[in-house]
Amino acid sequence: MNAPCEHFVGLVPAEPTATVCEQCVELGDRWVHLRACLICGAVGCCDASKNRHARKHWENIGHPIIRSIEPGETWKFCFEDMVVER
Ligand SMILES: [Zn+2]
Ligand SMILES: [Zn+2]
Ligand SMILES: [Zn+2]
Repeated sequence: MNAPCEHFVGLVPAEPTATVCEQCVELGDRWVHLRACLICGAVGCCDASKNRHARKHWENIGHPIIRSIEPGETWKFCFEDMVVER
């Protein structure tokens, strides 16, 4: 059992700031899916992508919660607690 996640409590989600993974664009790499940080709106690529920039954003910046910005997807995820919110 995971501990309950409190990262979504009272959250006002930030709007995504990009429609691409800008770090991958800079590297000339491709990504699989895009995720957006709910705290600052930074866009990064998913764990199935080579560079995992969404996860690195959590590791480097400490923002644990993301949402999918793939068309038709609205689920959210907390890296720290490994909790999916729908
Ligand atoms: Zn959490
Ligand atoms: Zn990336
Ligand atoms: Zn962030």
